[in-house]
Amino acid sequence: MAEPSAAEQRWLREARDFIHRALPARQEPGGPEPPLLDAVLRCLRSAGGGELPLGYSFISISDLQHQQRIPCCSHLTWSTNEFKEWAHQGRDAFPTQSALPRTYLILVGYLTDRSQENKEELVDGCLYVKDNTGIIPCELLHVELEWLESLFLFPSWSYIPQTDQSAAGYLEILVDPVPVNLPKEVPDSIPVAHPASHEPVLTSRVLCPKRSKVTVGGELTRLGPLLCIHHKTFFFLFLKCFTSAVWFPVLVQKPNQLVWHHILQLGHRYTITDLTMSSLKKLGRRIFVTGVSSCLLPYCAEQVREQLLDSAWQGESTQSAYPETAEQLSNSLQLGVEERPRSAKESKIISYVGCVTEILNVQAGLFLLDNKVCLCLAYQQLLNSARGLRPGACVELTDVHLLQKPLVSFPFVALCACLSSTVVLKSFSRLSTPYQPLASSGNLYLQLLFHYNLGMPLYLWMVSLLEAFEKRFSCFFRHHRSLLRSTRRNPTAAEKFVVPLLQAMVPDRGEARDVYSEILGKTHQCPLRKYLTLNPPCQAPSLSEIRHMAEQKSWEGFSPSQVLSPSEAQHMGTQELNRRLAWSYCTLSAGSFQPRLILLGVLRVSSRSSNLQLQDSSSWLSCVISHKDGSPFAHTALIGSLLQVENYQLIVERFLQTDFPSSEHLGNLEHVREKKTSVYVQFYFEDVQVLRAAGGPMQKGLRSRNSSSLRKRDDGSLIPELESPKAKMLKLEDPKPDTDRDENCQGDQSSARTSCVSHLFLVTQKEGLMPRNYQLPREEGGEEQELQCSFQATVLWLGRPQLWSHPSDIGNLPELEETGCDGEEGMARQEALLLFMGKSLRWFPFLHLGGLYRFIVPCCSDLEVFDKLCSPPVPLKFLSKSSCPLCLPVQDAWQLQHETWISCLPEHQLAARSVLAGMGQRISSIAEVLSNSFTGSLVSVSGEIVERSLCASPKNEKPSVTVGLQKQKGSLLASDHSVKLTISVAPGCPVVMDIYIAATCLKQLWGLLPGAKIIFQNLERKISRFHNVYCTYIASSCVSIISLPASHLPFPSSPVGEASPPSLVFLSSLQSHLQNLHQARILCHLSCVLALSLQWVCSLCSSIFKEGRCTRHNPPCPSHTGVRQASARVLVEDGTGEALVLCKNQHVAAMLGLSLLEWEVVQNCVQSRGSVSVQHGEATGTGCVEEPGDLIGCYLRSLCRSPLICRPILLDFSLDRKPSKILQPAPLQLRNFQCGEVEFVSQVGPYVSLLCLNVEEVGQDAFSYLNRERMRRTSSHC
Ligand SMILES: [Zn+2]
Ligand SMILES: [Zn+2]
Repeated sequence: MAEPSAAEQRWLREARDFIHRALPARQEPGGPEPPLLDAVLRCLRSAGGGELPLGYSFISISDLQHQQRIPCCSHLTWSTNEFKEWAHQGRDAFPTQSALPRTYLILVGYLTDRSQENKEELVDGCLYVKDNTGIIPCELLHVELEWLESLFLFPSWSYIPQTDQSAAGYLEILVDPVPVNLPKEVPDSIPVAHPASHEPVLTSRVLCPKRSKVTVGGELTRLGPLLCIHHKTFFFLFLKCFTSAVWFPVLVQKPNQLVWHHILQLGHRYTITDLTMSSLKKLGRRIFVTGVSSCLLPYCAEQVREQLLDSAWQGESTQSAYPETAEQLSNSLQLGVEERPRSAKESKIISYVGCVTEILNVQAGLFLLDNKVCLCLAYQQLLNSARGLRPGACVELTDVHLLQKPLVSFPFVALCACLSSTVVLKSFSRLSTPYQPLASSGNLYLQLLFHYNLGMPLYLWMVSLLEAFEKRFSCFFRHHRSLLRSTRRNPTAAEKFVVPLLQAMVPDRGEARDVYSEILGKTHQCPLRKYLTLNPPCQAPSLSEIRHMAEQKSWEGFSPSQVLSPSEAQHMGTQELNRRLAWSYCTLSAGSFQPRLILLGVLRVSSRSSNLQLQDSSSWLSCVISHKDGSPFAHTALIGSLLQVENYQLIVERFLQTDFPSSEHLGNLEHVREKKTSVYVQFYFEDVQVLRAAGGPMQKGLRSRNSSSLRKRDDGSLIPELESPKAKMLKLEDPKPDTDRDENCQGDQSSARTSCVSHLFLVTQKEGLMPRNYQLPREEGGEEQELQCSFQATVLWLGRPQLWSHPSDIGNLPELEETGCDGEEGMARQEALLLFMGKSLRWFPFLHLGGLYRFIVPCCSDLEVFDKLCSPPVPLKFLSKSSCPLCLPVQDAWQLQHETWISCLPEHQLAARSVLAGMGQRISSIAEVLSNSFTGSLVSVSGEIVERSLCASPKNEKPSVTVGLQKQKGSLLASDHSVKLTISVAPGCPVVMDIYIAATCLKQLWGLLPGAKIIFQNLERKISRFHNVYCTYIASSCVSIISLPASHLPFPSSPVGEASPPSLVFLSSLQSHLQNLHQARILCHLSCVLALSLQWVCSLCSSIFKEGRCTRHNPPCPSHTGVRQASARVLVEDGTGEALVLCKNQHVAAMLGLSLLEWEVVQNCVQSRGSVSVQHGEATGTGCVEEPGDLIGCYLRSLCRSPLICRPILLDFSLDRKPSKILQPAPLQLRNFQCGEVEFVSQVGPYVSLLCLNVEEVGQDAFSYLNRERMRRTSSHC
């Protein structure tokens, strides 16, 4: 033999080192062991055709696990071409996946079925390869029993690391291993070889005493999955007689026999020794059970005598559980196309061989086969940890259930393996796809599946809910794997979400799954046998999807004409028409969607927009939260919590840019220039379910109540308490909040630094968000002179700042206890003006008048931190009085915590309450504000919104800071518009007040909808030219929503807007109510039409429009559209007084008693003339020149003079112009009235001027009834 080369020598040295390190000699009982190195080398030589594989190096298990990060394979004997050919086979289905990369490694190790865990031998039915350095699970397609505990060379294998690299992967053994030592001689001691064991198999011994043991032989027809129940692992196998269809179950339960599960192969013949008989009483079925001494042997016909079975077994052979075994999938698929009625379908049982093309969800046991069939292994429980089930692997399924469309939205046909199905891995994947292990403990999918005994449709639905849930919220919580990881004690957020849904679907938890009857039952029973295609009862899509769906719904079937009433719209000029169209909204609820839509989101607050928001990984949705008792929402503790809401109003505000010339063009959508929407959601706090509370100091419920605060000792030293660092400060508005939670705590993180300082205060005034002339300190020192969005609040400090060892220690308002003891004098009563800018703007939605809050300065022990930052709001020299509160800019890192409301303080803190009483602002009633006697220019008022509309900004109300505001993004209303809100005390109440808000302020003002109850603070009260009182929203104003519109909500509601008709009044009684009357109704007599005017006016410039053209010439008007307008002034009396009524447009027709058709004709006649007007008193031929052929003029004139027009009517009106309070009412006069034949005299005041809102004809019967009614009410009043 030639001298080995240097390379070979080096290689041999390494081999020796490796074997010394990884493979210590074992004491084999079968005699002296040959030197290990020689044996390995001999083995390698024989595998490599006599050559040593110098290009390969040895690898130990431990090195493999720790050094190999990506999947790889090694083929000791293959040429490059052989490898290429192997790698390319079956690649077509996976164009994007690469084949396993080849490494040149030699793997030598022992094959074993027991692993070591905590020095205890563990047998779990898995196979392992081990050497001295470690142990690794392995998968083999073929195993022989005698291979166990022997040393092998593995010529061809793949190593698949786990996706999560913290844990080890596993080995796929591609080719049978080569024994390193010469194969042991087949021992003579196989029991079955002895003639003594030629016992009759399965004869009458079945009926023998239970203790006696039998040996059975048969063909393996079915292999059940490994199950672990009550910490006991076992499986069933089924042997069939060779000559008949009779089969019998064998329960394998001894730990050392679990490895049989890998060895057994369907269709092969086996003999099992030392079985005992056992009977399952419930099923009336006898089974064989293995004992400790039972052996699995290959069946050998010469060694065992075939026996007939007794009648007990015969009976069962006639019933086959699987009549449709081996039916082709394609046939079944074709059958499934036909739609069947919605009754439970029976699933077919088929066999199938397919290739895993995708792992749909390994934790849920869902795989995709051949890109078209979903394989569900969840019902088989352990799934062998999903080892080997990588894309590219081939599986053989026997007796699996085929379910067509189990879920409406599920795109695949499902093949589900139950406990009587057999799933066998046929070949390993050649692709470099990583391994996602299945978590068997804490696996929420499997737990819920077994706990609720779910059928496949419900299971798939639950999986889809949980998958979406995890995708949406895992980024918000640091331990995102725990979102779906169930623990016994605390249900996770995902469980809280999905369990009630399942409980609603499976009210009585179904029947507990009976494992034994599922495996052994004479007729097959399992949760997969029958199914009904599930129409999910609800959905929980992502916020971006919700936004999209809401937008879509809001435009669905939307047409501009819906927004306007046609009778009004036809008289509108271009500007008014388009303004009315510019802003509308629609309300959607959970039930507006099919299926019902559940809202999930993490509550956060944006410091940019100062909006409360629900967030998920996809998007955010602004929200308005109210309390049902009308108190404002201030739960700072809820920030960062995951909320579920099922009762909500999803509001879509629609913004349209249109240029419709007139209402006739509304059908032509070309005039819609731009469509925008803004979506937000509003709901009640009481309807919120907290799925996962935010941790940290904000969590009131979790806060320990009894721990005392850390006080400064007399000597000034601190006594820090040791605290667990679990409760860290929250970060509020960062969308990825958990990445740097501690950014607020800068500097060292020693435990002493977790102490914090707090200061309690009461809010006495809050102003709205406005750009103000404050400068935010900036690091860059840029020269930004832009106005800073900010808000300010006046507060009263309560007590002194407190020092706490940890934010979670903060207790129950000790400051107030102090004040309670010391009385008024002891209380440091000090006002401050808090200035919120930048990040502290996030507190805007939480800070409300009358609330007690606490600032917490984290990581701080300086009790003077607040004083140090205070400064006078203006330079000292301008400060005349010390009463001016100090200004405190709120720092970004400070936390705000809502404690309570001043109105909720308990008895023993009343001292403090009395001190604070009267500090807050008074809320006036609408009637008070409207009253002449009201003094003061700033008002706070609450009410319900009756109507909202857009109007052109009054010129004198133009905001002075328009320049800065126009840059403000997000405001979807044109900045030259104002929003007019009409508010009343209660729906249907005639006392109303108008509030004007510049559109530029509206970005923040979500929830201003008809039906909402709101509270406005610091509005400016104004009086119009016509002596109407109204209010405007100014820089110091603030609005909060206190309750949501009742309509569209599933809870009891009163219809809003369907107000009862206005109350019936006398004209004489109007004088006393003039200031606050909005709307009323009179029964009156039309005495005379004073003036009537019908016009066609230009839709753009309101000039007269004649013969299709605008008559304005200087400058010429381009308009081609005219709009019909009409007005009339009529005199009415009701016996107590007279009134002048102004009627417009369609009310003129009603007043003249013209039908719609007649009115249409009359208006069209005006078209050619432009305008027609009739004055009272102009007689024929006198004064006014009557044009010949002016038929329409003649007609209208005679109509107005006709006695027929003087008739009783029911008139709804509002006051046109209110009389000035300065003018004294004129003295009463005596006047004559005529009622039918009767003439009488009455005292009347001056004319009241009314605006007609509606005219109704009154028949004679109704007239006398109403008159009687009126008399009765009057007399009862007298
Ligand atoms: Zn089944
Ligand atoms: Zn014009």
